[in-house]
Amino acid sequence: MNIKERAKTYRSDVKPIWCPGCGDYAVLNSLTTALAELEIPPEMVAIASGIGCSGRFPAFTSAYGFHGVHGRPLPLATGMKMANPELTVFAVGGDGDGFSIGAGHLPHAARRDVDLTYIVMDNRLYSLTKGQPSPTSPVGTKRKASPYGTVETPLNPMAMMIAYGATFVAQAFSGKPKEMTKVIEEAIQHKGFSFVHVLSPCVTFYDTYRQFRAIATPVPEGHDYTDQVKAFELALDESKLYLGVFYKKEDTIPFHERLNSVRPEQRDRVTLMRELIDYYRP
Ligand code: SF4
Repeated sequence: MNIKERAKTYRSDVKPIWCPGCGDYAVLNSLTTALAELEIPPEMVAIASGIGCSGRFPAFTSAYGFHGVHGRPLPLATGMKMANPELTVFAVGGDGDGFSIGAGHLPHAARRDVDLTYIVMDNRLYSLTKGQPSPTSPVGTKRKASPYGTVETPLNPMAMMIAYGATFVAQAFSGKPKEMTKVIEEAIQHKGFSFVHVLSPCVTFYDTYRQFRAIATPVPEGHDYTDQVKAFELALDESKLYLGVFYKKEDTIPFHERLNSVRPEQRDRVTLMRELIDYYRP
């Protein structure tokens, strides 16, 4: 079986119902290709999603999946990883889901350094609900819900996640699927919390393919991805859309391993739980 055929084994019989040309197709293809390249069997993969067009993602795969409530893919994915650390776990969502209602989870997933990959498909709008401005919409975005144009400064997700201390921070673009596959592969292999920001255009409400193609460029050759300050410089340069790994911290010990090193053995935990229940008995 070649890699394309292997990648298909990660797809379910459910056909994606995204609009033709939606950037999320490229993300689905890149993720399944990355899994095929790394030969991780579908039954060892779990994907949690939030609400939005990207929320349907798990249904289109043959992996385990959980389509959760708005903004909560990270707590779900954290639970999945803690329950079974053998799994390769993903959280997926959009910019509205992750950077607005779910934004409170970002610093904590980063500081815990849970060994999972969080892919945000950022189309700079709430597209499922017909295109209201999101936290990453540029100033002046005019839509039905903002007829005079937005006045808020958009968030910079890359700078934000570097500041939060995520141990892997990378950027990809649906118009560059091969590069995206490599980034996702690297994110999966990173032992810790991996944040992958994907510019994933919404062709129906905000087609940014041409705009992003014009400024998309790989991170400069020789970029030192262990240097947080250099990573910030890339994130703050809005004249370009840098693609690749901005920051990576090596030799990290993921959350479940640190937790296991301090908590009692399973047998003792059961005993402790019984003691706790007895303590509160009337
Ligand atoms: S509305 Fe936009 S984001 Fe949603 S499926 Fe269609 S193109 Fe994709």
